[in-house]
Amino acid sequence: MRRKRLRAVFFGPQGSGKSQQAALLAERFDVSLVSSGEAFREEIGEKTAIGDLVSEYVEAGIFAPDELVNAILTKRLKRLDSEAGFVLDGYPRNVEQAETLDRLARVTLAIQLKISDVCAVKRLANRVVCTTCRATLSRDGVETPEGFVPCPVCGDELVTRPKDEEEAVRRRLAAYHFMTEPLAGYYRQRGVLLAVNGEQAVGDLFDELTRKLAKLGFVA
Ligand SMILES: [Zn+2]
Repeated sequence: MRRKRLRAVFFGPQGSGKSQQAALLAERFDVSLVSSGEAFREEIGEKTAIGDLVSEYVEAGIFAPDELVNAILTKRLKRLDSEAGFVLDGYPRNVEQAETLDRLARVTLAIQLKISDVCAVKRLANRVVCTTCRATLSRDGVETPEGFVPCPVCGDELVTRPKDEEEAVRRRLAAYHFMTEPLAGYYRQRGVLLAVNGEQAVGDLFDELTRKLAKLGFVA
């Protein structure tokens, strides 16, 4: 089988571990990792007109309109040689964005991480967050009888997420089902969908992914 270029998008609900898997996959295949969150922060940091606009949405914690998201990601993707391969995390978030992406680069694989809402809520409740750098970690790895260890990234204090965030998580899950999940049908029709059970441990999930990718002709 001819070796295929990895131009992959990832989608899955909050708590599915998609950012972690996207990063692992980009590293294994030695291709650029483009995260929508990072592209947003970069744009905001550069204080461009688009950056100013998008910062209002980010601060309010609501999704920016497609036009804005597409503009930022188009700009970011044009900076890399898309033929060389990439892994996208957090984009596209809906079918309209996927159509914009299609005009820009031919996606060769769309990975859907499937986890139940119950599992997503449980995983998110088990996370701690750094008060300074916002790094998010699983509680199991950082809890000692004396409390949480310092943030492994910046050394500052780790705290549990506030309880009222569970409501926010449920709202985001509902938004995911409504807006993002239809991407499965869209990419299935294009013949590039790969759905994987995201409820496994990080290492097992990555093993399954790379095994399935190899079968599809993607070799690192
Ligand atoms: Zn930190």
